[in-house]
Amino acid sequence: MARQLNLILVGPPGAGKGTQAERLQSDFGLAYIATGEMLRANVKAQTELGMAAKQHMDAGGLVPDDLILAMTAERLEEDDTRDGFILDGFPRNLAQAGALERQLQQQGRRITAVLLIEVPDEEIVKRIAGRRVCVKNGHNYHVDYDPPKLPDVCDQDGSRLIQRDDDKPEVVQRRLLVYHEQTAPLISYYEDRGLLRRVDGMRAPGEVHDHIRALIATLLLEDSL
Ligand code: AMP
Repeated sequence: MARQLNLILVGPPGAGKGTQAERLQSDFGLAYIATGEMLRANVKAQTELGMAAKQHMDAGGLVPDDLILAMTAERLEEDDTRDGFILDGFPRNLAQAGALERQLQQQGRRITAVLLIEVPDEEIVKRIAGRRVCVKNGHNYHVDYDPPKLPDVCDQDGSRLIQRDDDKPEVVQRRLLVYHEQTAPLISYYEDRGLLRRVDGMRAPGEVHDHIRALIATLLLEDSL
């Protein structure tokens, strides 16, 4: 099988995973798989999955593994993942990481790297408070750091910008707690497998992007030697 670039982005909510994934997707032509986006689309369309997921999402907790794993297993079978993928928001705990590893093994694929975008909690709280997303396609903005040209209007598709319910301050605290308790153990899990690469998420988005591209270039080079 031709070389695939299979990346996982890990980091607290608001670390800039979505922003970086958007750029990497166009740099490398990878399938972008963001479980949070997929779930929000299901909530909006009022599917069975969306209705089962909503209460967990609104409370800032994790959606049960069986629902997530059914959704991601199907998505990873799709044709557009042929040259590789970027996972954003999945896996989110060790059980999901194990299930992903088994599925990839069955498909004869492996993870190229896990990019950990590190940002301290105080900064996360500031970033999320100002975050706005477009109702139609989920494009991200920040009222201070990355404002749209017109207030509350998406530059890319003209739709309305809103604050996600789970970006409200009480819910953000809970999401951070869940991140530290359930998702952070993935750091040593992937470190033990030699896959973890750390990225300083406090830098400007363009610098973070440059760093990630350099990391990927090194990985590709190592692989071709
Ligand atoms: P995100 O946009 O990645 O911050 O995800 C928003 C919400 O969707 C999370 O707070 C969880 O409730 C849910 N979610 C997204 N991905 C997962 C996952 N892999 N496992 C469980 N819940 C998830």
